[in-house]
Amino acid sequence: MNAEVIAIGDELTSGQRLDTNSQWLSERLGELGIRVLYHTTVGDELEANVRVFRQAFDRADLIVCTGGLGPTADDLTREAIAAALGRALVQNDDALKHIQAIFARRSRAMPERNLVQALFPENSRMVPNPHGTAPGIDVEVLRVDRPPCRLFALPGVPAEMREMWEETVAPAISVIQGGERRVIRHRRIKCFGVGESDLEQMLPDLIRRGRYPTVGITVSQATITLRITAEGSTAEEAFAAMDETWQTIHDCLGDLVFGYEDDELQHAVARQLGERNQTLSTIEWGTGGLLAHWISSVDPEQRCYRGGTILRGVDADEVWTRQNQSAIASEDDSSEQPAAITAARAERSVRRMASASRNLLQTDYALAVGPLPSLAESSEEPGRVACAVASAGGVSFATYPYAGHPDILLQRTAKSALNLLRKTIAGS
Ligand code: AMP
Ligand code: MG
Repeated sequence: MNAEVIAIGDELTSGQRLDTNSQWLSERLGELGIRVLYHTTVGDELEANVRVFRQAFDRADLIVCTGGLGPTADDLTREAIAAALGRALVQNDDALKHIQAIFARRSRAMPERNLVQALFPENSRMVPNPHGTAPGIDVEVLRVDRPPCRLFALPGVPAEMREMWEETVAPAISVIQGGERRVIRHRRIKCFGVGESDLEQMLPDLIRRGRYPTVGITVSQATITLRITAEGSTAEEAFAAMDETWQTIHDCLGDLVFGYEDDELQHAVARQLGERNQTLSTIEWGTGGLLAHWISSVDPEQRCYRGGTILRGVDADEVWTRQNQSAIASEDDSSEQPAAITAARAERSVRRMASASRNLLQTDYALAVGPLPSLAESSEEPGRVACAVASAGGVSFATYPYAGHPDILLQRTAKSALNLLRKTIAGS
């Protein structure tokens, strides 16, 4: 069974509002094992709506549309459905009673205009809307030489649409599916540390089209998500069908995998620290507090994160570490030019920052991020950001290239630092 989701409204086609209903409905349909093959978005124009419905009757077995069921003149869905079916609109007495009751409950007189919400195409049923005035429409569309197509029209208000889906539409679809009901389930594996295409190369043949279970790969701000999709007659069966693929992915990727589902690197790190009953502090120059924000938001009970320092400006690290780690004063090489941040100096500086932060806040680990290199296009080699992790075992250190789209540079730098920390904790 193929489905089409139709979203109706000028606010959607003009870009003023994001069509979140189609996304939500498609996820729910997928969970019922129904493949959504088409998304259509159409503005508030009768003729265009009629065309969209006729096209959907022809190409989809199940149609769910949202929007355009309100009482105002721009709400045309009921009219468009009736016209596309070639049926008249007739009053549904149950719907009228419901609308009157809603107004009575709100102690308001019912405007004449709301009468249209009780009009339904002939031979259609009402989808009750417990908390709104716009009832939905449930109608079967007969087709030549093919099983009928079923259309559910729901209001655009997300809360009403969702409630009506749960209470009426999803159970009705289960009845249509009868004994052959299938469910589709997904599992997501989160990875960090290599590029998308390098990662794909490490997974022989898993991303191939037509393979089952399917494995999809997406990347968002340098975090790579592998999504396994399988189906079964129950959720357990669908998940069991993924087990082998799941294991293969772990075997191929090793510690590039840091988490699952909605995990970000900070969740992985907080989990590691929690399991070991250990603590963390941060000291950031380049990331300006982004790490402190990320880590504190996954440690609301303040179990593992002791706090952080933000440094800005040339030599802030010198001043700060001098104050907080007296030992370094003696080993200082004062012959170096303070303004020029050489690679060697960047390394020494970020290592000191990490050690000093660990001393200051008495933590098991301290994560330090050095200054950001300039993005000047004249330089041939991209600059690198230095990161260090201080722990009882010493200081681990790495640099990461600072190049790519400016919108994700900061995020990627913070994630690289967290990933260094994650690997250091795992290896200690
Ligand atoms: P309507 O049922 O067309 O009167 O829509 C009522 C309200 O629901 C609109 O003003 C939007 O705020 C919201 N809405 C309509 N369609 C969508 C959609 N596809 N996604 C998210 N919100 C929507
Ligand atoms: Mg509308």
